[in-house]
Amino acid sequence: MKLSELEDFLLSNNEKKFRATQIIDWLYVKRVNSFSEMTNLSKELISKLNDNFYFDKLEIIKKQEDKDVSKFLFKLSDNNLIEAVLMNHDYGNSLCVSSQVGCNMGCKFCESGRLKKVRNLETSEMVEQILMIEKEIGKRISHVVVMGIGEPFDNFDNLVSFIEIINLQKGINLGSRHITVSTCGIVPKIYEFSKLPYQVNLAISLHAPTNEIRDKIMPINKVYKIEELMKAIVDYSKVSNRRVTFEYIMLDGINDSMDCAKKLADLIRGMNAYVNLIPYNETENISFKRTEKKKILEFYDILKKEKINVTIRREFGGNIDAACGQLRAKGEVK
Ligand code: SF4
Repeated sequence: MKLSELEDFLLSNNEKKFRATQIIDWLYVKRVNSFSEMTNLSKELISKLNDNFYFDKLEIIKKQEDKDVSKFLFKLSDNNLIEAVLMNHDYGNSLCVSSQVGCNMGCKFCESGRLKKVRNLETSEMVEQILMIEKEIGKRISHVVVMGIGEPFDNFDNLVSFIEIINLQKGINLGSRHITVSTCGIVPKIYEFSKLPYQVNLAISLHAPTNEIRDKIMPINKVYKIEELMKAIVDYSKVSNRRVTFEYIMLDGINDSMDCAKKLADLIRGMNAYVNLIPYNETENISFKRTEKKKILEFYDILKKEKINVTIRREFGGNIDAACGQLRAKGEVK
């Protein structure tokens, strides 16, 4: 529940509004696991809370570690599985969280998209990924990226509640500039997102500079063409005054030609944006191959020459299938 929702609940149950801040403090600062531990609340209120809410824990059923990265497999209360990936950077601990069980967007290069969407994650299940991992590692998560399994904008309302809850100063207090949401390009939701009062970062999974190529690798492009997508992003930049990140997975022979680099530069020239080139992580089930390093560097050089802000993503977690596009929640649950 967001703070405002909790306040409404309290008021409609003849309790004082300020109790909401106390409850939030117990939940997200002191991190208790039951209402009876909230010692500054009356017995009556504790019983009302017990009657209306419950602590729904996720269960970590597997943890895999590689250099600077750990992947967590969670079992949800209905036995569905999701994954989250923790990356240790020099600037802090960044957690990539899932937003859905499976994903319906069907991007051809993505393992997560091979599992059709089973359901959206509840807001609490998204928040819990952070709380449980912080408890497990005994450290604070400093950055959150919503780039795990699922398309966040296909679970928009829960995503928005999630952002509000983790951003709340009196609670988890994650700065909005430390939160990044990624979308494959659900255009109407980009317009909606731009109206939100948060300074959250937006990353667009672009992965191709033309409709012809994007149609082949991202089915969403058949619904929202690149022109429409770019219009929405320009609007987002204008309204939010935020820089947009374009994610670009380098697929051998598909989107990595020097002509693609020039077309990409033409597409985003003049925008407040930067391109993040991602070396593809090959998986056994998908036939795409990774672009060789030399060619990635040439692609990078062309963008640089065209005065486009560009980075090549540092690689994480390829050995434990924790890298971008590899999350699949493969664990067996008996
Ligand atoms: S890349 Fe993202 S949106 Fe596309 S199928 Fe994978 S999880 Fe879904």
